[in-house]
Amino acid sequence: MARRRQLYEGKAKILFEGPEPGTLVQYFKDDATAFNAQKKGTITGKGVLNNRISEFLMTKLAEINVPTHFIRRLNMREQLIKEVEIIPVEVVVRNIAAGSLAQRLGIPEGTRLPRSIVEYYYKNDQLGDPMVAEEHITAFGWATPPDMDDIVHLTLRINDFLTGLFLGVGITLVDFKLEFGRLYENEDMRIVLADEISPDNCRLWDVKTNEKMDKDRFRRDLGKIEEAYQEVARRLGILPEAGSRDMKGPETMQ
Ligand code: UDP
Repeated sequence: MARRRQLYEGKAKILFEGPEPGTLVQYFKDDATAFNAQKKGTITGKGVLNNRISEFLMTKLAEINVPTHFIRRLNMREQLIKEVEIIPVEVVVRNIAAGSLAQRLGIPEGTRLPRSIVEYYYKNDQLGDPMVAEEHITAFGWATPPDMDDIVHLTLRINDFLTGLFLGVGITLVDFKLEFGRLYENEDMRIVLADEISPDNCRLWDVKTNEKMDKDRFRRDLGKIEEAYQEVARRLGILPEAGSRDMKGPETMQ
C-alpha cells in the first residue's frame, strides 16, 4: 500500500491523509512531553494503549449520543477519524484540585471541588497555552457563543458519564482535557469531540489508594508509567490477553 501523506505531527500523535475525503488517520506515538515540551521522553507501548483507551471511551460516549470524530480503530497504533476544523481551545474539567489549579489557587491537591469547574486555555505552544475566558474565545472569534453553548453542554455530559464509568472500575476522574472541532456535513456544521481521551490528558487516581495512574507519573518521575497506563486499560477490560485478541467488558470494583 502506498505510504500515506503526513499532514501534521504533534507531540504525541501524527495525522495522515485518510483513505477517503473527509477522513484522517490518527497515529499514536510513544513520545511523551510535559511542561510545555520542556520535558521529553518515551513511554514504551503508550501509543498502543492510548489508541485502545481512546477508542473505548469515544465509542462509549457515542453510545450516549455524544458526537465524536472517531470512526474506527485500524490497527495497534492507528485510528480512522473524521476530518474536523479544530477549535483552538483546550477545555479542562476539574472535579478534584490538582496540577495547575492546586498551585495557582493554593488549594491542597486532592481537595474535592464544590462543583465541577470548566476552564479554557488558548491552544498556542509559543504562548504556553494561556488560560482564557469565554469572553476572549468569542471576542477573537475562536468559537461563537452558540459553539460555546454546545461545548459546555457536551463537556458536562462527558464529565458526568466518564466520572461514573471510571468510578465503576475503581478509578477517580480528577480532571481532564478535551478538544472540540467543527464537522461540516452537507450544509450543516456540528461541534464534535476530537483529539483523544487517555491517561495522557486525564488525571486518574486509584479510588482506594489515590495512586496516580496517568501522565503525572511521567511529569513527576514517579516510575511505573507503562504499568499505570496498562492498569487503566486492564480495569476498563480492554487489555488484550496474551495470545488472545478477545476484549472483555469492564471489571466492576466492589
Ligand atoms: N492537560 C492536557 N494538556 C495540556 C494541559 C493540561 O492534557 O496541555 C490535562 C492534564 O493532563 C490534566 C488537566 O488537563 O488532566 C489539567 O491540567 P493542569 O491545568 O492542572 O495542568 P498541568 O498540571 O498538566 O500543567
